[in-house]
Amino acid sequence: MNTQLLMYKPNLSAADQCVMCGMCQPHCPTYHAEHIESESPRGRLSMILGLAQEQLKPDSSVIKHLESCSGCGACEAMCPSRVPVMQLMDNSKQLLARKSLILKTLLFLVRHPARYSLLKTVIKNQKIASLLRVFGLLDKSSKSLQKTAQTHQNTRLDSFYPARGNIRGNIGLFTGCITQIFDQTTLHDTVRLLTHCGYNVHISQQQVCCGALHQHNGEIETAQLLSQQNQRVFHTKTIDSVIFTSTGCGAQLQSQLKDIAIMDVMQFINKNNLLDQLLLMPIAANTLVHEPCSQRNQLKLPDITPLISNIPELAITPLIENQFCCGAGGINMLTAADSANKLRINKIKDIEAQSPDIVVTTNYGCALHLASGISNKLSQNKKIEFCHPVSLLVRSASLQ
Ligand code: SF4
Ligand code: SF4
Repeated sequence: MNTQLLMYKPNLSAADQCVMCGMCQPHCPTYHAEHIESESPRGRLSMILGLAQEQLKPDSSVIKHLESCSGCGACEAMCPSRVPVMQLMDNSKQLLARKSLILKTLLFLVRHPARYSLLKTVIKNQKIASLLRVFGLLDKSSKSLQKTAQTHQNTRLDSFYPARGNIRGNIGLFTGCITQIFDQTTLHDTVRLLTHCGYNVHISQQQVCCGALHQHNGEIETAQLLSQQNQRVFHTKTIDSVIFTSTGCGAQLQSQLKDIAIMDVMQFINKNNLLDQLLLMPIAANTLVHEPCSQRNQLKLPDITPLISNIPELAITPLIENQFCCGAGGINMLTAADSANKLRINKIKDIEAQSPDIVVTTNYGCALHLASGISNKLSQNKKIEFCHPVSLLVRSASLQ
């Protein structure tokens, strides 16, 4: 056994808690798509155990089946034996250490906000991106990412936004790496809603990426360093709660940070009855609701449909197969593109069949992955908007 394998063997051996009952199988999106044991949680746990017991070598077939796991957590949520499947998958990736140049570069750039503008420049540069695609270092899904980067206008986020009217509390806003680069609309809308409802919003410039991308791609020590920095930033008496807008980041923050009230923005709105302070006007639009697996399996948050149903005239339908991961899985859409694209097939068919005005989701990575799968024919005829539910509330309430 090599030294790396010996070092991580204790972390992998927890796979022997799996009693092979198979109750997780029907909930696994890759098993649902492929119908083979090696693409199921039970099959992957057998491989991990085989690696830990030196009965299996990490050859290309093993790596492929472990990498195609989207990290959705559906298996762990259903497992009666409480097998820590997600942790085992992360540890196995630490061992297998996917070391493609593009992955290493991406993980390096998202590590600190000072590098975000560099990341955006790299993605925006057509020549660099085309070259990376020619050498197979960037998947075609990156075209959508590139297009978004080219159209997205960054407006600087201030460090502090004062409450309007009576002060109800102080919020620390977690901005996230990808959200800060590509989805500042959601962050600005969150600030608008919270300040309107009486909350001071603090945006620390010292906060860093949540570390989920590093954790799920084998860079566990880096993920821990990032968590420690965020713990220092947010563990302060100045703020009452930390609010996140992306459920993928939220799942990582809630699992890593200690003694801090961390909450999803929609959960916060609901818990504090903030809709009572909004005068919601009609939005006549057909809306599909996508439910990210980080929201359902890891954070165990309820569907956002009841909240946005308060918007008059909004027609709401759940996206098909919301119980299954769409395949985005952090940067799975880039690192295991074939598998990730298979997982979104039925959802894309549903979007194309229903041709909605809006697709709403609490995870920007999912939005990007789904948007990039829509056929040119449909996107040329109709612009489907992908947005966070907080943006719908802000639009309906006409908050400036
Ligand atoms: S992971 Fe849990 S649910 Fe799945 S086969 Fe093992 S024990 Fe059963
Ligand atoms: S995390 Fe999701 S994709 Fe991975 S084995 Fe579990 S259910 Fe399957």
